[in-house]
Amino acid sequence: MSTCPNCGTNLEGDAKFCASCGYEISPKSINQERDQEYNSTDNAIEPEIVRTPGKPIKERMVAGILAILLGGFGVHKFYLDDMNMGLIYLLFCWTGIPQIIGLIEGVMYLTTTDEEFQERYVK
Ligand SMILES: [Zn+2]
Repeated sequence: MSTCPNCGTNLEGDAKFCASCGYEISPKSINQERDQEYNSTDNAIEPEIVRTPGKPIKERMVAGILAILLGGFGVHKFYLDDMNMGLIYLLFCWTGIPQIIGLIEGVMYLTTTDEEFQERYVK
């Protein structure tokens, strides 16, 4: 069953005019009304989706532990979305130097505050 777009009165299946207010019912206006109903149900669902505003929060502890355990392979850099540095660590992992730097960085991550960590290391 359709309703009058003008006054909301229930209409007969093939009514051309609204019996209550005389509004002319065209197939187009009924379709528009259906579209509006469809959109409004979409909007009703939307607030349930939780969105985190701004940049993604990286876990300081996770980055620190990754740097200490897997720092030689640049895993903590990949975790912090620093792909270029991660690749450099990975390229030089056979030298043993990235392991040492990763260990130092891991300790720095773990000893800094969350705010400083986000500011300095998270892009
Ligand atoms: Zn009407």
